[in-house]
Amino acid sequence: VAAVGAGARLADVYDELDRSDLTIPAGCGPSVGISGLTLGGGIGILGRKHGLTADHLVGAEIVLADGLAVSCDDTNLPDLFWALRGAGAGNFGVVTSMKFTTIPVPNLTDFHLVWPYSQASRVIDSWQRWAPKSPQELAASLLISMPGEVGKDPQVNVFGTMLGSESQTVSLLDELVGMVGSEPTIINHEQKTFRDAKHYLNQLSDGALHGEVPQTEGLDADVHDFSKSEFFRQVLPNDAIDELVENLGTERTSGQSRELDFSPWGGAYNQVAADATAFPHRSEFFLLKQAVAVPWNAAPGQREEATAWLDRSWALTHPWGSGGVYPNFPDPELEGWGLAYYGKNYSRLTEIKKRYDPDDLFRFHQSIPPADT
Ligand SMILES: Cc1cc2nc3c(=O)[nH]c(=O)nc-3n(C[C@H](O)[C@H](O)[C@H](O)COP(=O)(O)OP(=O)(O)OC[C@H]3O[C@@H](n4cnc5c(N)ncnc54)[C@H](O)[C@@H]3O)c2cc1C
Repeated sequence: VAAVGAGARLADVYDELDRSDLTIPAGCGPSVGISGLTLGGGIGILGRKHGLTADHLVGAEIVLADGLAVSCDDTNLPDLFWALRGAGAGNFGVVTSMKFTTIPVPNLTDFHLVWPYSQASRVIDSWQRWAPKSPQELAASLLISMPGEVGKDPQVNVFGTMLGSESQTVSLLDELVGMVGSEPTIINHEQKTFRDAKHYLNQLSDGALHGEVPQTEGLDADVHDFSKSEFFRQVLPNDAIDELVENLGTERTSGQSRELDFSPWGGAYNQVAADATAFPHRSEFFLLKQAVAVPWNAAPGQREEATAWLDRSWALTHPWGSGGVYPNFPDPELEGWGLAYYGKNYSRLTEIKKRYDPDDLFRFHQSIPPADT
């Protein structure tokens, strides 16, 4: 078990655990805070095998609205502990430390395949039939990025890791390539230590996935980005995929970059009951996050164009979505956010809120209200 201070960022957590050849399943962005990530779920390359970061939380210290600092786990204040795992971000108190079960650092094979944009529809259709049903050792994401430089070609990337040898990885990737029906223009794969694989994936996210343009992240980002996401329990039909791809390249404007970011679900994510923790998204196939970014100093009209593109794109796939939305990709415009983020757990969460924060001290746009208010 590892005790982690609530202010730690993922890079600190991984580095410290790595000294003992241990890790936790968590996200990729090194600057992401362990608290927000865990309290809203926590997905990453080990998730299909080992579950959410929140599924590895075994206890937390939290300062409640009345100023009391308490410990909670499966036996002490179990209702509060239940709520923290999936709905804990900002809703019930200030978490000051957390305890996680750890796993030994795995060796794995990382990979990156690139297809030209002309193959985007084929890759989406093939990926959605392959990645969510593949062995849970495989975490293969699909990212289609449309750069802000209008003359620059978009890129179709399948990338991730396999908890296994290079030859096991290649045979799984061959299945995908066969389904797509055309060879990728780039194929990279290499067996690495966990630490080196994470480093490689961070480098990819910083540049190559976006057509070599270095991306900035977090608070220093020089862009203003907007995103909408949804979970899917069924495959997207070909017509919807074609419209999605067409819309991605429609009316491109300089400085506006767009992304379709598909994360595989299934595996251990779906091996926990929807009401076992506050995180309800346990029957999904994949998560699609659609995002658009404009320069930080973009004029209001440019921002409106960007969000209009995003709304159109999201509406194209929404008819096939499950209605569930990942709380860690919050959407301030989302209608019916309580059900979308928390599903059938929402009503129980309002009761727990009433017990621990009856005066709604911890409130923000889209915070859980106390029951009966
Ligand atoms: C670059 C980048 C990469 C990402 N990669 C991943 C990924 O791989 N996997 C994934 O699952 N998600 C990922 N995310 C999404 C990430 O999980 C969310 O943005 C998450 O909210 C980040 O938490 P934070 O503590 O860093 O952020 P903050 O903005 O500080 O907090 C987010 C929310 O958590 C609450 N919160 C923070 N600390 C506490 C605390 N101590 N007690 C109670 N509430 C608290 C805040 O009130 C707020 O509501 C990524 C985000 C970014 C920007």
